[in-house]
Amino acid sequence: MEPDNYRPGLLPIGGNHVRLRLIFFMSNNHLSDRINFLEESQTIGMSKLSRELSAKGVDVINLSLGEPDFVTPEHIRNAAKKAIDDGFTHYTPIAGYPELRKAISDKFKRENNLDYSPEQIVVSTGAKQAIANVVLSLINPGDEVIIPLPYWVSYIEIVKLAEGKSVAPVTTFESDFKISPAQLEKAITPKTKMFVFSSPCNPTGSVYTREELKALADVLAKHPQVYILSDEIYEHINFLDKHCSIAEFENVKDRVIIVNGCSKGYAMTGWRIGYIGAAKWIAAACDKMQGQFTSGTSSISQKAAIAALSTDNRPTLEMQAAFRRRRDLVYKLIKEIPGLKTNEPKGAFYVFPNCSSYYGKSFEGAVIKNSTDLCMYLLHHGHVSVVTGEAFGAPDYFRLSYAASDDKLIEAIKRIKEALGRLG
Ligand code: PMP
Ligand code: GLU
Repeated sequence: MEPDNYRPGLLPIGGNHVRLRLIFFMSNNHLSDRINFLEESQTIGMSKLSRELSAKGVDVINLSLGEPDFVTPEHIRNAAKKAIDDGFTHYTPIAGYPELRKAISDKFKRENNLDYSPEQIVVSTGAKQAIANVVLSLINPGDEVIIPLPYWVSYIEIVKLAEGKSVAPVTTFESDFKISPAQLEKAITPKTKMFVFSSPCNPTGSVYTREELKALADVLAKHPQVYILSDEIYEHINFLDKHCSIAEFENVKDRVIIVNGCSKGYAMTGWRIGYIGAAKWIAAACDKMQGQFTSGTSSISQKAAIAALSTDNRPTLEMQAAFRRRRDLVYKLIKEIPGLKTNEPKGAFYVFPNCSSYYGKSFEGAVIKNSTDLCMYLLHHGHVSVVTGEAFGAPDYFRLSYAASDDKLIEAIKRIKEALGRLG
């Protein structure tokens, strides 16, 4: 009933990180250093472990993957079916169908009051590829990239692939995990080429206010060599206010690359539609990069994305309301668990509790030494899958995705509470 690397009473300490390092040392050296040093995505890794356990018949609740549980709205699905029937089955322009780039340009104007012409837009195979295009197009070996910690798992690894150097100022629970202007100023050096952040944030759920973004923009305005990758994939899951983009500030706008996509706001994770809005020369570079990797993304998904971005927005608002209700539910229930300390998420669909008060406790002789141990314990003895904070550079925390039904969330948190209560 347990995965191969699990022995009862002995937690697979260090989880994926340690496993990957072991693989590195044992690996045949025909593989490149690049792949040997690349970490597996732990959000995906943990979800894989959870699925393996489920396949063996264990009733696991998987709250590790950040993925809306909703089915893609019907009008979007219908647009995709029509695209197939209408024969949209060929290669597409690398940067996306002109009609889609126009729909994104219109969306920027309508929702964000931002002017991006279709030539400033590149559509990619998910926001993940959009981020990779930007980083690989702008970062030279040794360039510094500031990524506030906790960060989304893939930023660091993509920067590593570009041979850039990640610099991760630590944000704290007390500052609601937001970087201050002073911290940002301190982190910038003549070698800094890029600042990467997400708002709403994965994994903390924090959302920068307009004033906070303006203060960061004012710092960045003084450093014209720094580009700003603003990951806005959770734009539509914001409980605070109307979404604000750092690109709204004229003093930095030309250096901002907005990354967005359809995965979260339209429940379209499997369709793989991401995009950027950026200066024309950056968009042209990403087009060139993508032309050598994947070409244009799926023709059918692009037609679906046109429907998502240019028609009925009601399903998105309904999903947002559901996420808000679940946020309230989960935040309340998690706060009732002794020893967990959680900020109130203002967006996205994650809670990020501090679990360090459980370190040193044990179960059947195995001591919980860190968040990874705790997450493995919760998986195997609570049958709930969450992701260790180590994946996000914050080892005293874990991330729980509340993109699941109310019933599942209530049951999962009950299991977590009981499992934690069994630690002595
Ligand atoms: N950025 C953040 C902050 C994310 O959480 C994710 C995960 N989906 C992505 C980018 C990538 O999104 P996509 O599914 O569009 O590749
Ligand atoms: N972005 C989601 C997450 O953080 C999906 C998994 C991934 O792409 O890494 O869980």
